[in-house]
Amino acid sequence: MSGPDEAGRPPGEFEQIARLYRPLTRGAPEALGLLDDAAVIPSRPGYDLVVTKDALVEGVHVPWGEARDLVARKLLRTNLSDLAAKGAEPFGYFLAVAWPPETDFATRQAFARGLQVDGEAFDVSLLGGDTVSTSGPLSASMTLLGWVPEGRAVLRSGARPGDLVMVSGPIGDGGLGLAAVEGRWADGDGYLARRYQLPTPRLDLREGLERWASACADVSDGLIADAGHIATASGVALHIDLARLPVSAAAAAWLAGQSDQVLARGRLAGFGDDYELVITAPPAAASALGLTVVGQVEAGAGVRVTFDGAPAPVATAGWTHP
Ligand SMILES: [Mg+2]
Repeated sequence: MSGPDEAGRPPGEFEQIARLYRPLTRGAPEALGLLDDAAVIPSRPGYDLVVTKDALVEGVHVPWGEARDLVARKLLRTNLSDLAAKGAEPFGYFLAVAWPPETDFATRQAFARGLQVDGEAFDVSLLGGDTVSTSGPLSASMTLLGWVPEGRAVLRSGARPGDLVMVSGPIGDGGLGLAAVEGRWADGDGYLARRYQLPTPRLDLREGLERWASACADVSDGLIADAGHIATASGVALHIDLARLPVSAAAAAWLAGQSDQVLARGRLAGFGDDYELVITAPPAAASALGLTVVGQVEAGAGVRVTFDGAPAPVATAGWTHP
């Protein structure tokens, strides 16, 4: 790390920790003020610890040049979405950031500010981590911890025939939002870009999932792909009827311009980055939790896609990371 910051260069590592990262601990005692070799987390009787990890690389998972506060917030929010899918209550995270060496202090401050804003919003604290230099693009990785009552985590493996397949909100906004950010689709009021850049993890469904859900995953790879992950883990087939997909007004406007509605809806169900939840549960859960039923769990394997009951071709089997 370079010395004084008269040219916008970052101060030394320990001063960066003090100025950028210690505030993100929000006083959490487990972080030990970021002054020790490690964090110490007391066990919580009656709870299981749920742990997830996500990484992102500029140019791969976020567009080149994306504002650093948005990069940080998306990293936290995608991790939070994974814990939301397990019905867990997040409390703290570990962070590793690799900065290109020319990155100035203001840019690093913007990244930390993004974590500050969302750390407060979602009540999660930094517990430890590391910052390093890289000869490659900006990359960052986060490990997020949460608690769930013992034995009550909602896994992907619990779906059973007779359950219905439900989603927590609009499908396809993430993919259209990426198109909007990249200038491939005109997004009038910025709704789609916001859905892509700042997804909302569905932590609000935690108590309902614990009560009702037999299986759950967040929609990060695309609804069809993530439903497929549940099908594989559970040893069942998931049916999805594209006519029943909930779509936002902005996605409906995109659909209106597409000549083949079945293929177009298949694309919405193939896009990633929605960060809604796909849930299997008994029928009563739909009205209890305000979910939209899109199909049912069946004996078999894989995902069966229909449109109004008729077999539907699907143009994409989900987002594959390049
Ligand atoms: Mg996930």
